[in-house]
Amino acid sequence: MTTENRTNEKTDLLSMFPCEVEDFCRGIGEPRFRAGQIFKWMHAGEEFDGMSNLSKALREKLKEKAVLYYPKIAEKFVSQKDGTVKYLWELYDGQNVESVFMRYHHGNTICISTQAGCRMGCAFCASTLGGRVRNLLPAEMLGQVIMAQRDMGERISGIVLMGIGEPLDNYDNVMRFLRLVNDPAGLNIGYRHISLSTCGLVDGIDRLADEGLPITLSVSLHAPTDALRSEIMPVNNKWNVEQLLRASVRYFEKTGRRISFEYTLIAGKNDTREGAALLVSAMKQYIGRKMPIHINLIPVNPIKERDFEASEKESIRRFAEYLEKNGMTATVRRTLGPDINASCGQLRNKENQSRMGT
Ligand code: SAH
Repeated sequence: MTTENRTNEKTDLLSMFPCEVEDFCRGIGEPRFRAGQIFKWMHAGEEFDGMSNLSKALREKLKEKAVLYYPKIAEKFVSQKDGTVKYLWELYDGQNVESVFMRYHHGNTICISTQAGCRMGCAFCASTLGGRVRNLLPAEMLGQVIMAQRDMGERISGIVLMGIGEPLDNYDNVMRFLRLVNDPAGLNIGYRHISLSTCGLVDGIDRLADEGLPITLSVSLHAPTDALRSEIMPVNNKWNVEQLLRASVRYFEKTGRRISFEYTLIAGKNDTREGAALLVSAMKQYIGRKMPIHINLIPVNPIKERDFEASEKESIRRFAEYLEKNGMTATVRRTLGPDINASCGQLRNKENQSRMGT
């Protein structure tokens, strides 16, 4: 578990599995059943003082030995259009990250952040502008789900790791978070209701395939050729389109889980008829019939620091139609919460800039 930048030597109890909480209890001379009580309270977002079935003495002991890294709500925005809620969190060291709570007909889903900032450098993305400050602890990822659920008073049944950060660049903490959030004694969110999105860290994809977690993998492809992909996504210089698509096939073959390819449409750059044809040919060449291909088209959300423009509705429709004609399925992502800067990274930047007086 990452311990960088911790403020003190207290035990990060919220990042622990039930058996580890038991060990901790044993270590402070408490019976095992206390661990179950504490675990339940923590996963409901309670502070030590509010754990009412523990003695006052035990609560004091816990405060002295352990710390709960829940994120605190710094700001909250509710979309007047569709009820989407965006949280700006403050972490223990003053860092800010974001989550977005979304309502779907199949249940409530939250999009969470995995790092404070990001070092992947994608040209169109707001989260990477200030680089990566640090990895989030498992407790801080879990805390986003717990605290949003507590604040909303509604169960969250799905999670997408598509907020600030590259989840496979914080691999161990993310794996621990996934197992914690799936724990039946905690939030008990099914792996099939969890999606992890990556910009294409091939070593991480191969590792993930061996974990045996039936989560959904989203691959941020965004460009059909190495020339264009390297221009907008520096990660392509390390693992190119061919390596990424071949890793995706390996992932599917090992896990049996379909992959969703994310393709952000940028006007005049990758949304042309030629772009669609190149995408189809890359998919045919490196994937062929080895797995079903699903492309999720996302009109780029323009950020003020970069001059990318979203594609016209008509070019998106034509792009999707071309893919469908060539045997793939394509969906166009619905934009939720357009009135509250709902795509991630935008609020964090605003907050950082206003602190720096810019
Ligand atoms: N690092 C991971 C997850 C976070 S980004 C990844 O790259 O997949 C989540 C998704 O939003 C990615 O597909 C990313 O490419 C996309 N994205 C980032 N900035 C965007 C923007 N301005 N408009 C549209 N999509 C964007």
